[in-house]
Amino acid sequence: MKSSTERRLTTAIFGATGSIGKQTLSVVESLGARVDVLTAGSRDRELEDACRKFMPRIAALADESAANRLKLALADTDIKVFGGDEGVVCAAAEADADAAVMAISGMAACAPMIEASRSCRRICMANKEAIVAAGDHLLSKIKEGGAELIPVDSEHSAIFQSLSGGRREDVSKLILTASGGPFYGKKRSELEGITPKMALSHPTWDMGPKITVDSATLMNKGFEVIEAMRLFSVPADMIEVVIHRESIIHSMVQFRDNAIIAELGVPDMRTAIQYAMTYPERMNGCAGEVDWKALSKLTFGVPDTDAFPLLAFAFEAARRGGTYPAAMSAADEVAVGAFLSEKLGFTDIFDIVKETADIVGHPGQTSFEDIVSADAEARLRAAELIDSRA
Ligand code: NAD
Ligand code: MG
Repeated sequence: MKSSTERRLTTAIFGATGSIGKQTLSVVESLGARVDVLTAGSRDRELEDACRKFMPRIAALADESAANRLKLALADTDIKVFGGDEGVVCAAAEADADAAVMAISGMAACAPMIEASRSCRRICMANKEAIVAAGDHLLSKIKEGGAELIPVDSEHSAIFQSLSGGRREDVSKLILTASGGPFYGKKRSELEGITPKMALSHPTWDMGPKITVDSATLMNKGFEVIEAMRLFSVPADMIEVVIHRESIIHSMVQFRDNAIIAELGVPDMRTAIQYAMTYPERMNGCAGEVDWKALSKLTFGVPDTDAFPLLAFAFEAARRGGTYPAAMSAADEVAVGAFLSEKLGFTDIFDIVKETADIVGHPGQTSFEDIVSADAEARLRAAELIDSRA
């Protein structure tokens, strides 16, 4: 890739109206990058605004009627608009970008991600659910597609950066930091009456609603353990989770001599998004600097897996392998949705995820099709379990 100081970086953004998508647009603006493709789920007005600002060649919305509205709204431009899940996949196939940012949430990211790996030079991977569920299959399809994959999730970006501090064969441990979420320090019995509003106020990171609830249950950290196993080809017992309330250390790599290399910075996803886009170059950042005068201490603790059992369960699902991670992730998506619409209590999320994964998950060798059907079955089972509690 030519230096981005010599030519403008071209991007394709999948999930442009979400939390990561909007932060990506802020990075794109700050870098003066070009936008080739913008896609989203259903928010036509927001995507129209982004299209008018960044003038991509192609736009797509997964929702057909929203796509029709967008097509009419953009009739005065040359932007090609696609609609439906197929339309998002077509946009990915026709994309021509140095960096495709995958910020679609959930398994819906799989098909566009595989297409974009053929059409674009690099996948900047924010989505984690697809990696957790379909990991090795998905990663090998991306490799076949020919694109390079750079992680965006802040912990994995930190590990990716820290790995350059030594040889891969000398790595002894990956240390994932966790803020602990808004309910850190509470006992299980104190979590019963948690409301969506309480769960949506994260102490350090500003994220979309589903991942914010996942951070509050520590499911997110469990997903990140599996994400790290897949991305860096390490077993679960080489990964440790450490509570670090300030979210300044974004994660660390320990080598065989017990030396640790870490990446630090303010908790702002734009640093990791930008790094994934410009790697190996570093450009001026839009996130702020760490203010060492204001920061009096960095603290560390051990996660309480009695109060937050989903972290321990994710390690268990990772060890069992097969379709367990896919079933766990799909059940979590349904349970978090029910919690956010006040149909399920906060601690019930734990039970729904475990019960569903135990019913649907199977260990051992799996095909991509097995994973897709485990995902679908887990959604049905989780919904049934939720209904039976109502
Ligand atoms: P979000 O819910 O705010 O945004 C999701 C985006 O995906 C939206 O633009 C939505 O329109 C789009 N989308 C949803 N379904 C779609 C479909 N079927 N087809 C096309 N587009 C669709 O989510 P987010 O917080 O931005 O997170 C995005 C992904 O990045 C998730 O996988 C999340 O786990 C991961 N992630 C997020 C953060 C964060 O700070 N928000 C950090 C690390 C990783
Ligand atoms: Mg993260």
